[in-house]
Amino acid sequence: MTRPAPNTAPNAPVLVVGAGLSGAVLARELAEAGWPCHVIDARPHVGGNCHTARDPETGVMVHTYGPHIFHTGDAATWAYVTRFARFRRYTHRVKTTSRGAVYGLPINLHTINQFYGKTLRPTEAEAFLATQADTSITAPRNFEEQALRFVGRDLYEAFFKGYTQKQWGCAPRELPAAILQRLPLRFTYDDSYFNHPYQGMPEDGYTALTQAILAHPAIRVSLNTTYTPDLADGARHIFWTGALDGYFDYALGRLGYRTLEFERFTATGDYQGCAVMNYADADIPYTRITEHKHFAPWERHAKTTCYREYSRAAAPGDIPFYPIRLVAEQALLKRYVARAKTLENVSFIGRLGTYRYLDMDVTIREARAAAAQFLAQGGTLAPFHINPLA
Ligand code: UDP
Repeated sequence: MTRPAPNTAPNAPVLVVGAGLSGAVLARELAEAGWPCHVIDARPHVGGNCHTARDPETGVMVHTYGPHIFHTGDAATWAYVTRFARFRRYTHRVKTTSRGAVYGLPINLHTINQFYGKTLRPTEAEAFLATQADTSITAPRNFEEQALRFVGRDLYEAFFKGYTQKQWGCAPRELPAAILQRLPLRFTYDDSYFNHPYQGMPEDGYTALTQAILAHPAIRVSLNTTYTPDLADGARHIFWTGALDGYFDYALGRLGYRTLEFERFTATGDYQGCAVMNYADADIPYTRITEHKHFAPWERHAKTTCYREYSRAAAPGDIPFYPIRLVAEQALLKRYVARAKTLENVSFIGRLGTYRYLDMDVTIREARAAAAQFLAQGGTLAPFHINPLA
């Protein structure tokens, strides 16, 4: 994609492509420092994939692109989001159905005792799992080795193997160990899904949060607006939060993503008793069912909206969700990064711009850091503020 020469006039406007969390936070930080920003998004709403909307049939606030739970260990990021929205207390607890029984995730003392039919105390459970673990694996090189090393084959096969195969469409031994490292392993009865001290749900949803971040007189938002080079006319800089390969019109090929399909259904009352029920068995085609009303336990609704979630490889035109980052994608990513590094006055940020599996808090922290550096450098920034190949 070509673009005109940058406008180097002081405080010339900045074009931000994408109105998800990255774009909104970046624009807000620049706007507060006096830089006018034009934020565009091809979709009819802000919030990117954390968009939420009320289901007109049930009144339930639905996470349109799948479950998003805000959690962070970073007090500054928590202070930042709570400036823009009232967060309600919400502790994410996940259940999984495996071989006809229901267990709690992440694997904790209750899961271990229930699975093995034991009554172990913490130190006993730790010693027991050590007998299950494959200690010949010292440095796990992939997802499967990570699981075998830390929980052993039984738990791996019951909870991770089938789910991961469905979620990623490949054998777990082809995936990086880092994907499993997202999940804690606990020898207590604490069944909170996340270890982070700050956790909650924005009372009016993530779209309202994003709108509040964007509500600044120096920010103009254009929805239903696909990027074309003329939009960059007169711009000082472009922040691109869309897909990295999309910026180059996929000239070198397409970076692989998993996309999700949601089968919506409604019911009366409470369908499953929790927000997220995973389905670990390989012969059940979906990975999980999300019952959205449980994300807002302070609300009351007679009816309920659920999404059955299916994962598959993204084809052109599909919404990209999870970057795959296997060996082939890493090689292609390297080539796109090299090409991007030749650009001036364009920076790539966020999950799609840097092709990484990012949580919302990291996205926000990185967008703020990129904005701070842009401002500190008087309105310039390298194509990458972080290293997407790391
Ligand atoms: N995972 C699994 N079984 C589960 C839940 C997670 O095997 O019941 C694996 C799976 O590979 C998944 C990864 O752990 O992609 C990370 O899970 P997380 O819940 O963080 O995924 P997300 O909610 O971001 O899709």
